[in-house]
Amino acid sequence: MNFNLHTHTLFCDGKAEPEAYIKKALELGFHTLGFSGHAPVPFDNSFSIKEDDFDNYISAINSLKEKHKDQINIFLALEIDFIPGITKSFSEFVKQGNLDYTIGGVHLVRNSDKQGLWFIDGPNYETYDEGLQKLFNGNIRKGVETYYGQVREMTITQSPDIIAHLDKIKMHNKDRYFSEEESWYKDLVWKSLKTISETGSIVEVNTRGLYKKRSGSTFPGPAILEQIHHLKIPITLSSDAHQPDELDGFYKETIGLLKEIGFKELMYFSLDGWKAQGI
Ligand SMILES: [Zn+2]
Ligand SMILES: [Zn+2]
Repeated sequence: MNFNLHTHTLFCDGKAEPEAYIKKALELGFHTLGFSGHAPVPFDNSFSIKEDDFDNYISAINSLKEKHKDQINIFLALEIDFIPGITKSFSEFVKQGNLDYTIGGVHLVRNSDKQGLWFIDGPNYETYDEGLQKLFNGNIRKGVETYYGQVREMTITQSPDIIAHLDKIKMHNKDRYFSEEESWYKDLVWKSLKTISETGSIVEVNTRGLYKKRSGSTFPGPAILEQIHHLKIPITLSSDAHQPDELDGFYKETIGLLKEIGFKELMYFSLDGWKAQGI
């Protein structure tokens, strides 16, 4: 597959300059590359673009777009966090940066009765465990319900073009808190998928957990992908690259899986808007 719409550079928590990703994308024969730095959030953190660096990000990507326009289609996007009552609306970011598209993701779960946020991402399961304890008294079901509730609210109120790593909540769960086979969990996922299917958002198939060895499957995993296929929800493929050599991480294997499930096409962004490409 020759595109990637979900990448992070030194402007946020990625490890290389934007140009290094373009060089790699050209080597791989990509026709399209989207930059999706983590949008600024109104609190201190180590992952997002800083508020006062936002304009630099926008102009850097825009000038690369122009510079490489004869070689590859570069697009300007953001991966935007949705935390009810805390984050800015997606449409404000779109307006502020004149973005080509948005990726909506939940990395921080809020319990409105408590101070702080549950950080479900990152390399350490200790952070996950501590947050779950602090925000939900260790009640995993309550925490996971709140996570999917946030995903649904984001889908309905923010209309992201792409929904990032839908079941990322499973990342630090393997053989630990719950089984993805439990009916309460399956019901939550199904409810979220029904919501998504009514909105027109594209669900991302994200390979990062696989090449970082933090997950045994894509986000979302095969069982959810089968339901997505059944509901005819459009999908895209991305690696959520944080360095150039991750740009096509586990693409080949994942395409195989998607074909097996019955998917025929992937969505990508183009100069004429969203398009489907056969797999
Ligand atoms: Zn993310
Ligand atoms: Zn990302």
